[in-house]
Amino acid sequence: MLVKFWGVRGSIATPGQDTVQYGGNTACVEVSDGTSLLILDAGTGIRPLGTDLITRFPKGTKINAHILLSHFHLDHILGFPFFVPAYNKNNALSIYGCEGAGKKLENVFIGQMAPEYFPVTIKEMPAEMKFVQLGTRPIEINGFKVSPTYVNHPGLTLGYRIEHGESKVAYITDHEPYRYLLRQHAGTQPIFDGIENGPEILGKEDRNLVEFVKGVDVLIHDAQYTFEEYKSHLSWGHSFYEYAIQIALEADVKNLVFFHHDPMRSDRQIHELMQYCQNFAQKKNPALKLYAAWEGLEINLP
Ligand SMILES: [Zn+2]
Ligand SMILES: [Zn+2]
Repeated sequence: MLVKFWGVRGSIATPGQDTVQYGGNTACVEVSDGTSLLILDAGTGIRPLGTDLITRFPKGTKINAHILLSHFHLDHILGFPFFVPAYNKNNALSIYGCEGAGKKLENVFIGQMAPEYFPVTIKEMPAEMKFVQLGTRPIEINGFKVSPTYVNHPGLTLGYRIEHGESKVAYITDHEPYRYLLRQHAGTQPIFDGIENGPEILGKEDRNLVEFVKGVDVLIHDAQYTFEEYKSHLSWGHSFYEYAIQIALEADVKNLVFFHHDPMRSDRQIHELMQYCQNFAQKKNPALKLYAAWEGLEINLP
C-alpha cells in the first residue's frame, strides 16, 4: 500500500516563499495498492494528483477513483472542480462522505459547482459519477476495508481507518480533543494542564479514538495548533501536537504524520516544532516515528 500526500495545509491554500518546503495545497492524500485508488479529501492538492494520474495511466485507460471526504469545509472540497480525470467520459468517480448540514452528499457537491460559483456544473462533468452517503458502517472498496467514524469538529466530520491485507492507515483530520471542550460545555472552565503527564490529556471519548486507530501503521492526524495556540482556539475543531502524539502512543501506532498545518505556519516554524515534538515523543517511546506531512511525502507499506 502506498500513502502519498498531495495537499497537507489546513483552512486555506498558502502558496509563497515561506511554504515551499512543506507545501501550500490543502488536504488531499492518495492511498493505493497499485491498482485501486482511494483519495482522501479533495482540497486543492487533488489538482496536481489529477494531472499526475493523467500521465500515470496510459491514454485510453479508465481511471477509477474512490474519493473519501472527511467533510465539506472548503479546504477539503475546493480542488474537486479542477480534478482533470472528471472531464473524461471514460473515467469513473465514486464519492463517499456523510451528509452535510442536513443536505444530502450529492447536493453539497452540486452546490459548490452552481453556476454562480463555477462555470461547469457537476452534471456537465463527463466522468461517470456515483455518490455514496456514509454513516459509521464499514464498507469494502476493491480489497480495502474502510471504516468511518465521527470525529470532533464543527459540523459532521468523518475520520477513516483503512485496511488492506496487513497494512493499516488512519486519517483523522479536522478533529480536536474531546476532554477540554466537554469540560467547557459542562460549564467547567477547561483546565489546561497535563501535556507532560501524557494520558492526562485524554478523556473518555478520546480513548474511543485511541481504540479506533489502534495498531495502525500510519496515523495521519490533525496538528494545526501548538498547545498554547489551542488554548485560545477551543471549539475551532483542531488538535495540538502533543495530543496527536499521545493518541499515537496509546494506540501503538508506528508512524505519526502531522497534518493540516496552520496556514500561518512557515517552513521554519514547522521544522522547529518537529524538533520539539521529536524530543517530546522520544522520552515516551523512541520507536514512534514522526513526520510533518509535506507535499510529495510517500510512505510505502508492505
Ligand atoms: Zn480543514
Ligand atoms: Zn473543517
